[in-house]
Amino acid sequence: MSARVDIIGAGLAGSEAALQLAHRGYRVRLFEMRPFVSTDVHVSDRCAELVCSNSLKSLKSDSAAGMLKYELTRLGSYLLCEAFDAAVPAGGALAVDREIFSERITAAIDDHPLIDRVVAEVCDITPEGKLVLREPDHEEATVLSDASDALIVASGPLTSDTLAQSLQRLTGHEQLSFYDAAAPIVYTDSLDFDCVFSQSRYEQGAEGDYLNAPLNQEEYERFIDALINAECVIKKDFETKDLFQACQPIEEIARKGLDAPRFGPLKPVGLIDPRTYRRPWAVVQLRAEDAHKQSYNLVGFQTNLTFPEQRRVFRMIPGLEHAEFARYGVMHRNTFLNAPVLLSADLRLKDASIAVPVFVAGQVSGTEGYTEAIASGLVASLGVDAALSGKTFEPLPVETALGSLLAYATNPQTTDYQPMHVNFGIAQPLETPIRNKKQRYAAYAQRGKAAIDEYAEKQGIAPLSEGRTAWI
Ligand SMILES: Cc1cc2nc3c(=O)[nH]c(=O)nc-3n(C[C@H](O)[C@H](O)[C@H](O)COP(=O)(O)OP(=O)(O)OC[C@H]3O[C@@H](n4cnc5c(N)ncnc54)[C@H](O)[C@@H]3O)c2cc1C
Repeated sequence: MSARVDIIGAGLAGSEAALQLAHRGYRVRLFEMRPFVSTDVHVSDRCAELVCSNSLKSLKSDSAAGMLKYELTRLGSYLLCEAFDAAVPAGGALAVDREIFSERITAAIDDHPLIDRVVAEVCDITPEGKLVLREPDHEEATVLSDASDALIVASGPLTSDTLAQSLQRLTGHEQLSFYDAAAPIVYTDSLDFDCVFSQSRYEQGAEGDYLNAPLNQEEYERFIDALINAECVIKKDFETKDLFQACQPIEEIARKGLDAPRFGPLKPVGLIDPRTYRRPWAVVQLRAEDAHKQSYNLVGFQTNLTFPEQRRVFRMIPGLEHAEFARYGVMHRNTFLNAPVLLSADLRLKDASIAVPVFVAGQVSGTEGYTEAIASGLVASLGVDAALSGKTFEPLPVETALGSLLAYATNPQTTDYQPMHVNFGIAQPLETPIRNKKQRYAAYAQRGKAAIDEYAEKQGIAPLSEGRTAWI
């Protein structure tokens, strides 16, 4: 009898992992709580529901999102193939008819002889790896009589409370976050270095750890006015309930009074502008996001502004007029583990104190975005396969978009981790630096393509179906 794997959550990551494992001959029990228990954003009882936009982002081969699509296709992703089959016209992006997409995936799962989809809320995991379930028509939660050979947790950003508590017990209370309050990240080479200066507070003269964008009084007041009048993402109760107690969005701080940000995240104390030898009226500080200083985050700028408004308003900051965003700020409900501390490169929990190997995939593993969720489901399934067949897991090459994301997310040196999508700000620098952006991105793409082709070849992974991957 082949080994069996339990998967919690039939979202994007869980569905990809289930289909991958079944394809490799494993039996799968896939636990999904919907429609018995729903979340605040899902509306159907189907697998792989897209909860918001219907876009899986760019197809351009020289973008990080486009590279990820090539890599997933090369690694035989089921869900990406279905996405291509369910595609609707969207310029240079891959957007899907969400109904067709999730219907097809649900059918593939339900028709697969090796996958058993169970409607139940997983409330807990015992030390033996047995799942504790709440099922329709059962008052009491029950413990399953047997554990599987491996477990994948793919319960998503809206993991149910009972399971979240269980994960907290399993991993340590401070290792699970419930809200994603992330500041925007901008590419270093899009900043104007005639304006921003490198300096740490109270350390003038020395090359500092921070970049500083100085504002004079007029610039500051114009910026604050734009900030408090900018359009915000529509706030729903579930997104804001406990959020503001822990972490204030920059626009909320600005609403408290004109000077509030100047005494908060934009305080200029201890900083001298080397061009004027004076302390600026206010300063936006930027902290390096990666070891190679290819991107910087705007310190204290977690925000609820819509993405176009972030682009418009934050470009009013001197030195950021042409800023390109590696990621925008977000503030929403988001259950995710502190991946750099807890996970290894195969997305396995390093120390789960559970008798079976436990893997984590999707948003809860600390990746951000639909395609990234699919990708991490695929990687977790490769990790399970390696663990159960006694092989050593070969990490994805860091030259690939997915490999660089996983290297960043599971690097113990990464601090204050926030979920991340693929982007060139965390890419492994090229051996020979290229200044021209277009040429540099093309070089990343070319290098990544060669790396994933070699990886897949070496691992004996074929694209799923020649016909459906003809676009490569
Ligand atoms: C409000 C919101 C909007 C977003 N919008 C976008 C967007 O527009 N574009 C984008 O790229 N990304 C977006 N994301 C981020 C992310 O890409 C998606 O949330 C994506 O669906 C994550 O995939 P997943 O597989 O990790 O989780 P999901 O797709 O949510 O799947 C998790 C599944 O687990 C089930 N589950 C939860 N708890 C349990 C339990 N205890 N037992 C059994 N089943 C359980 C859930 O019902 C769900 O079906 C958004 C996130 C949120 C919260």
